[in-house]
Amino acid sequence: MLKMARFLPFVLMLMLAGGAAAQEAADWTNPFPPFRIIGNLYYVGSQGLASYLIVTPQGSILINSNLEKSVPMIRESVEKLGFRFSDIKILLISHAHWDHCAGSAAVKELTGAKYMVMDADVPEIEAGGKGNFQYGEVLTSRYQPAKVDRVLHDGDTVRLGDTILTAHLTPGHTKGTTTWTTVVKEDGKSYNVVIVGSPNVNDGYKLVNNELYPQIAYDYQTMFQVLKALPCDVFLGAHGNYYGMEAKYARMKEGGPNPFIDPEGYKGYVAEREQAFRTELAKQIQEQERKMRNP
Ligand SMILES: [Zn+2]
Repeated sequence: MLKMARFLPFVLMLMLAGGAAAQEAADWTNPFPPFRIIGNLYYVGSQGLASYLIVTPQGSILINSNLEKSVPMIRESVEKLGFRFSDIKILLISHAHWDHCAGSAAVKELTGAKYMVMDADVPEIEAGGKGNFQYGEVLTSRYQPAKVDRVLHDGDTVRLGDTILTAHLTPGHTKGTTTWTTVVKEDGKSYNVVIVGSPNVNDGYKLVNNELYPQIAYDYQTMFQVLKALPCDVFLGAHGNYYGMEAKYARMKEGGPNPFIDPEGYKGYVAEREQAFRTELAKQIQEQERKMRNP
């Protein structure tokens, strides 16, 4: 009984946090073979959590540190490709959720990389996930706080060697969700790369009357306008399932044209996700109106 009484507040807290406790998907920790996507851009993530390495003569950039336990796997992937983990000079993320940033403190410690994060996500990153509008009180969503070395603003660029990345604020999923773009060269051609931060409305997200994030619905709409305006040849994202990573990897191994060059896939994905957002928003507005009529 005593045990139950102690456990109960935690259960209530999880429920209050929107019902969506931090759950680890099985494929997040399944290893995946590292591979070159295009130009100087490599995949070094797991089956379910994407991580990207951009290699320049002046060192490397890592996008997404993933879970704390992902860090040794990312390191192994980097080394399997023939690069040095300690050459990572800059660490970036897709957004301040534990599955993309919990390993950042460890990556910083192991490499001395400079951590650069979009302004609106910085307070959460430096508080280890506290203050997140959805998961801030969910203990399993917390992570080791990490000091941000450079605060990014919408449109800022990150440069290393001859690589230039642009940080696009694409908010909604978190307040500082960042979509990264760059241009890679291969066989004398240039390709626009888009790494989508996340366009998804998670289970339990309140799009209407969200006291901790009043402008959430507006932000999602802004985000879709930004994504629709980005030129995209190479379509990537924070999770491989945004862009069919596994199927494309299999096709790549068969030879032929690079399947990651997929401008139509990008347009289709953004349109489908925008429709899903609009459907969810309409549902929540209807529910709100129903409650106002029958309080
Ligand atoms: Zn997320």
